[in-house]
Amino acid sequence: MFRKVLVTGANGQLGQSIRKISGNYKQYDLSYIGIAELDLTSQRAIESFFETNHFDVVINCAAYTAVDKAESDRELADAINNQSVRALAEIAKKKDMVLVHISTDYVFDGRNCKPYVETDSVSPQSVYGVTKLGGERACQNLGVRGGIVRTSWLYSEFGQNFVKTMLRLGAERDKLTVIFDQIGTPTYAGDLAKAILDSLPMMESKYAEIYHFSNEGACSWYDFARAIFDLRDVSCRVAPIETKDYPTPAQRPHYSLLNKAKIKQDFDLEIPYWRDSLIRCLAALEGE
Ligand code: NDP
Repeated sequence: MFRKVLVTGANGQLGQSIRKISGNYKQYDLSYIGIAELDLTSQRAIESFFETNHFDVVINCAAYTAVDKAESDRELADAINNQSVRALAEIAKKKDMVLVHISTDYVFDGRNCKPYVETDSVSPQSVYGVTKLGGERACQNLGVRGGIVRTSWLYSEFGQNFVKTMLRLGAERDKLTVIFDQIGTPTYAGDLAKAILDSLPMMESKYAEIYHFSNEGACSWYDFARAIFDLRDVSCRVAPIETKDYPTPAQRPHYSLLNKAKIKQDFDLEIPYWRDSLIRCLAALEGE
């Protein structure tokens, strides 16, 4: 049975969400590192860190997540999303450490018409998606112990995300346009954090096994914005627009629903409906 767990990307949405609920998991001795403690773009820094620090499990929440910026910043995105994961996986393999790595729905091209299962073929359409797929493959090629959890549309009370952007814009403007032809599922980082910590003991016996996790249900970004405004009584009107009317440097999948049957079955998880989780996140934001 393991105890010592390291969380990278400690200052990101997921890292902070894990820290927030860590009090419920006294069985783990959790440590947190951000870029200040370990810059993951340096393989030497990674190696030397693990020479002097011992962990049973690493939960890798660090990533280059600026999807549009990555299109013109490929080298850095690759260094963080791909090369650093390979370095972590090599160390995990050498030290027989469990690695739980987080990936994305953007490894898919969005041409499916039913929720993606873990074995569906991947075809990322953006630099971000390509580099994240590189990270997945690094874990798989080395057959490292642990799992790869693909998630989608992450938001939380921490950092920058769609919910916070909508609340800010909704307070500033009378009317907003939001894309309605990208369909997915929002994921509250608090729910993902709980799923990961609950699954850890079972992850020990997996080998770079891929799992899909998001909240339950489906919506477009337009529906998501409408729900945020409805729940917060924001009077700003929202009009639906097509992706072609809101050009961005990175191409995003039109459809990226994740089928979560495998993670629910393997780890006996119950996943909340996306709107219920949104209510909890808005309450957490209100309490700040
Ligand atoms: P965040 O962007 O909120 O956090 C990522 C963290 O990684 C940041 O704290 C960042 O540090 C850190 N980081 C970046 N570069 C380095 C580096 N060189 N060395 C060390 N740390 C670094 O990400 P999320 O919490 O939103 O995402 C968690 C995981 O989920 C990621 O793997 C992401 O790819 C995946 N994911 C996210 C989605 C989303 O919508 N956000 C959707 C699908 C998957 P700093 O704070 O200093 O920038």
